[in-house]
Amino acid sequence: MTSDALRINFDRLQQDLEHLASIGRREDHGIYRMAFSDGDMAAREWLRGRIEEAGLEYHQDGAANIFARLGWDGSHASVMTGSHMDSVPGAGHLDGALGVLVSLECLRRIKELDLPLGRPLEAVAFTDEEGRFGGMFGSQAVSGRLTPESIYTARDLDGVTLTEAMQARGLNAMDALRARRTANSIHAFLELHIEQGPVLDRNHIGIGAVDAIAGLFRWQACFLGAANHAGTTPMDMRNDAFQGLAEAAGEIPRILEEDGSARSVATIGRVELSPGAANVVPGRADFSLEVRDTDPSVLDHLSQAFRKSLSAIARRRGLMFEFQVVSELAPVKCDPGIVEAVGAAARDLGAESLVMASGAAHDTQMMAGLTRAGMIFVPSKDGRSHSPAEWTPWEDIELGANVALNTLYRLAR
Ligand SMILES: [Zn+2]
Repeated sequence: MTSDALRINFDRLQQDLEHLASIGRREDHGIYRMAFSDGDMAAREWLRGRIEEAGLEYHQDGAANIFARLGWDGSHASVMTGSHMDSVPGAGHLDGALGVLVSLECLRRIKELDLPLGRPLEAVAFTDEEGRFGGMFGSQAVSGRLTPESIYTARDLDGVTLTEAMQARGLNAMDALRARRTANSIHAFLELHIEQGPVLDRNHIGIGAVDAIAGLFRWQACFLGAANHAGTTPMDMRNDAFQGLAEAAGEIPRILEEDGSARSVATIGRVELSPGAANVVPGRADFSLEVRDTDPSVLDHLSQAFRKSLSAIARRRGLMFEFQVVSELAPVKCDPGIVEAVGAAARDLGAESLVMASGAAHDTQMMAGLTRAGMIFVPSKDGRSHSPAEWTPWEDIELGANVALNTLYRLAR
């Protein structure tokens, strides 16, 4: 371990994490900070206070993204770091919040050490990453992906529009179009986040250097057969839609092995059989299929392989196979220089790191379209997330924050 590696003030970070974890928490121990809810607004107000106490410049853009700035002069490209403070309903205390508070602590530490900076620093808390109104609203705004239509039509599950929710907080949703940043105003973007998966925890490795974020395609699909009497229809005279689906599910490992990569995953997460009675042969099996990988050409191959394989199953069983693509998200590559910088920062701190993919979507996915971007993962205990059971040991948080600080300083020096 080299002694010149920078260190964050861990006690201060710990206090901030514990305080933020109390905002929006309910009796079930879950955190409720959905975008523009009371919990979210209280967290925003608290964060503003912390930024001002630290003597950093506070800025809020048109998408209600909150920034702390150090050395900002509006003319030099900044190094930006951050994540989100909003949550899913019943969330844990670290998803997003950890990245925001580590970012704030990094800027505070660099300021109090009076370290020379070659570039301004920005710590950001993005709006609605978790998707009350669709997801990654703040980072989409910054990376210029919003349109007046996408803002106007965004609504939550209760039918509340984004426009109404922002208006209730004194904000104009259309101002989000003005949050767009130019590519040359940001030199690099770094996000620290909990892994939300079991890989680091299982391997007892403290740091993940994320080299890619998986993309996906999602199908709404169905096998169509014929509903019939379950007692009188002999097995060889059935067109059982569920039998087709069961065979398809069993084929998943083979398809991934033959046409995917080591990073491919596929999930049938929702199934509905019709008519849906114990004594009726199912005539129809509707299901979702979601496939993820970090390589666009692998996703293409997999899409063709699933199409071929499921059509063949249908033919053999006298069924019809139909599907509709309901969403597609392109994979994103992280900047190799940032992946390297994360690994080097971990080495300087005497820690092991693992180059790995992110299976979950993050704000970095949007920011990577605008600037060089990278992510640091810290372990999630048992891979748990989006639940109050979400946990990362304090020593892993401290290490992750120190890696973030040293990576950030490398990028901004
Ligand atoms: Zn998150």
